[in-house]
Amino acid sequence: MLHIYCPYCEETREEEEFRPKGEAHIARPADPESTSDEEWGNYLFFRKNPRGLHHEQWLHAAGCRKFFNATRDTVTYEIFETYKVGEQPKFTDAATTAQTTDTEVAK
Ligand SMILES: [Zn+2]
Repeated sequence: MLHIYCPYCEETREEEEFRPKGEAHIARPADPESTSDEEWGNYLFFRKNPRGLHHEQWLHAAGCRKFFNATRDTVTYEIFETYKVGEQPKFTDAATTAQTTDTEVAK
């Protein structure tokens, strides 16, 4: 079972209180009238399915009922961070690569 930190409640709670809601940071096209069908289709239906670091939306359904984002490794299920909507993640692919490089240099 995952234990997830809600950035609004400021508490770590059990996974059963939360619902995953898919990929985070999907921006709605600014001008839908001039967006092509392909771009609109990509916005509505196509999502990343990476192996590794993934930014996801979660809902604290049995708590504050607010949406927040989490950075999770899809292989190990480890959650690196949770953060409020509108904030930027500290863990990104670039940061992870830098950490890996630092580790390799230290060996
Ligand atoms: Zn909450």
